[in-house]
Amino acid sequence: MDISVVIPLYNEEESLPELVAWIERVMDANAFSYQIVLVDDGSNDRSWSVIETLKHQNDRITGIRFRRNYGKSAALNVGFAAAEGEVVITMDADLQDSPDEIPELYDRIKRQGADLVSGWKKKRYDPPTKTIPTKLFNSVTRSMSGIHNLHDFNCGLKAYRKEVVKSIEVYGEMHRYIPVLAKWAGFRNIQEQVVQHYPRKYGTTKFGAGRFVKGFLDLLSIFFVGKFAKRPMHFFGPLGVISFLIGFSITIYLISEKLMSIANGTVYRNVTDQPLFFLSLVAIVIGCQLFLTGFVAELVSRNGSDRNNYHIDQVI
Ligand code: UDP
Ligand code: MG
Repeated sequence: MDISVVIPLYNEEESLPELVAWIERVMDANAFSYQIVLVDDGSNDRSWSVIETLKHQNDRITGIRFRRNYGKSAALNVGFAAAEGEVVITMDADLQDSPDEIPELYDRIKRQGADLVSGWKKKRYDPPTKTIPTKLFNSVTRSMSGIHNLHDFNCGLKAYRKEVVKSIEVYGEMHRYIPVLAKWAGFRNIQEQVVQHYPRKYGTTKFGAGRFVKGFLDLLSIFFVGKFAKRPMHFFGPLGVISFLIGFSITIYLISEKLMSIANGTVYRNVTDQPLFFLSLVAIVIGCQLFLTGFVAELVSRNGSDRNNYHIDQVI
């Protein structure tokens, strides 16, 4: 099979027939063998019965229904597990992404050897309250992840080589960072394609303003997990040592200052009357805590079932 189109959807009953018909048109025009995976993320409108009707008309549709709403990442993860095509394409169900991009995306993966091609909504049809924070979000993600050639990490329209979706796990709200996950799984050829974007035709957006706060927190966790999950002591250890050393040297200074004053017979204060004393106390305690956190984190990661889970490309 050439292509699997994975579509996460939550309350998109009006858009589905149009979207599926459009995808079918594009696939038939290019003679692709394909599959459309519709993941109903616990919709409470008529989306599922629309999917049932569509499945009736076209057997190449796979419908998966969550009992409740788990979020876009969960829907993508399940869709990826069901995908069988050589190239996996994800798109939003709300008709903001155009299926006409599929042939070029396919070509980039198949003939130009890309592992992942991410859409770039260069000209967007969203309100400025969304586009401006998005710019900030993208530039922070770019510099933290080291993927400098992407302008638009969170574009719903993306294409993947099959191995990519089979080697990454999208959970929580990590769908915003799939290129980062792919990079950490060792896929280096990450490209971008300018795509056409449309205003939402039916229904409303499913993500509120909270997306930016959550997105930023997720970025911090993903960065931490990606870098230090298998060696947490390398993160906590140095911080602990630095803090401890600061406290320790202040203590030495305080003690020697007092001894000197006693020896020289000059006036001196009690050590506990000096602000520096409290600083050293806090620094030493925090230093020890960071160090112990490092040890505990080592024990936790040692127990992780994926501790020796590497992505091996080839063996000869
Ligand atoms: N979506 C989903 N589960 C959710 C929220 C959204 O499957 O909990 C789907 C939604 O139906 C759409 C896609 O994710 O197909 C993108 O959502 P939306 O268009 O609301 O996001 P926006 O375009 O505003 O970023
Ligand atoms: Mg949308």
